[in-house]
Amino acid sequence: MTDSSFASLGLSKEQLANLDSLGYEEMTAVQEKVLPLALDGKDVIAQAKTGSGKTATFALPLLSKINPRDFGAQALILCPTRELATQVAAEVRRLARHQKNIKVVILCGGQSIGPQIGSLEHGAHIVVGTPGRIKDHLRKKTLRLSRVNTLVLDEADRMLDMGFMDDIETIIKQTPRDRQTVLFSATYPDNIESLSERFQQSPVKVSVESLHDEGQIRQLFYLTQRSRKLDSLVKLLGHYQPERAIVFCHTKDATREVSAHLQKMGIATLALNGDLEQRDRDQVLIQFRQQSCRILVATDVAARGLDIHELPVVINYDLPKDPESYVHRIGRTGRAGKEGLALSLLTDREQHKLDGIGAFQGSHLTAEPIETLNGSATMTPPDFVTLCIAAGRKEKIRPGDILGALTGEAGIPGSAVGKIDILEYAAYVAIHHNVVAKALEGLQRGRIKGRSFKIRKL
Ligand code: AMP
Repeated sequence: MTDSSFASLGLSKEQLANLDSLGYEEMTAVQEKVLPLALDGKDVIAQAKTGSGKTATFALPLLSKINPRDFGAQALILCPTRELATQVAAEVRRLARHQKNIKVVILCGGQSIGPQIGSLEHGAHIVVGTPGRIKDHLRKKTLRLSRVNTLVLDEADRMLDMGFMDDIETIIKQTPRDRQTVLFSATYPDNIESLSERFQQSPVKVSVESLHDEGQIRQLFYLTQRSRKLDSLVKLLGHYQPERAIVFCHTKDATREVSAHLQKMGIATLALNGDLEQRDRDQVLIQFRQQSCRILVATDVAARGLDIHELPVVINYDLPKDPESYVHRIGRTGRAGKEGLALSLLTDREQHKLDGIGAFQGSHLTAEPIETLNGSATMTPPDFVTLCIAAGRKEKIRPGDILGALTGEAGIPGSAVGKIDILEYAAYVAIHHNVVAKALEGLQRGRIKGRSFKIRKL
């Protein structure tokens, strides 16, 4: 029998207590398979997706090796996108919070390089970033990799798809040969095999068969007409009243059209597409995570790599082209033992897609006419509103400072304060809508860490 408790791994007492405080009770499938090998210093090539708990599988081993007194970069984590890098860094920070003075720096494109150079000057134990920007820093000699003992390639197949092969090679060649290399990839095409052959030493290959148990996701399909899709979507939302949901569309234009229509119908909705500036993108995601917006309308591309999982409902406004994408989309629901719901709209002409999805899953799927549903024409508004504070990690703001300002001077009960997210230059806090006016006024009038900052409602 395998032991799925973290206690079996020989981690420090402090780390075990930290994992416990983070709600990590048992190892996930990929952790159970990879952690013993990775903690033993082996090179690993593993197949796992976001949501499988993969971040901890590489973060725990690398953290166990960090020497806080050595300020050279000791671990390098390469990710395809800024979103993934940000999520990974956040998780690494959580897993490192019992270890004092460990610095994690994010180096991604799309952001000015100056502040990144500034953070590197102060020393960084762990670097998380995208290949292009890391290469820029190497060229400028603002980053050195000669002390790296662990290299992680996260979503390696996507990095190669995005044309990062040459950058990755250049980067790896500047790391010591005796490093540990951990590679994660959802697929194993030939270029991944060759990347692994060239840069890993006798890697152990691990795959976790069932990434999600399809039985846990209830899949329902509704027939409508092209011209009535917007109304049909409102009907779906009114009937099922999802607490939170992603609505997938084919195109950026469709995301705009759909979110505009839902807003017109009084349903709080945000659109996520590739046209958004990074800052707006961050804000959209934060509002969705902070539950101040229930519905996120997105394209597959925009949703890729997002740390949004354990969703109660996924909706396909447009059915994807192929069954693999469908399965990937709906895999964002039905996690962690909870039953998920996947709702899809289809038109008469899309019957073949339904057959394809059924065949792929080995089941026969049928669609009901949308008219069979009834429900209210609108949805209840979200419980929270997000406030943005114009001060972040740069100003050394911590969640406790914000919570203190709210519950102290502003007189807001702690129970009315939801999630708090701190970015480099801004902080976001979810406030129950009942007391949001009071919280806004209190924060505007009062001080956080002895200073007053601009506050606004998103
Ligand atoms: P990841 O696949 O690394 O993006 O992780 C998905 C989410 O699962 C993260 O929010 C983790 O904090 C959480 N998580 C990872 N491992 C565990 C575990 N063993 N028990 C509970 N939660 C976990």
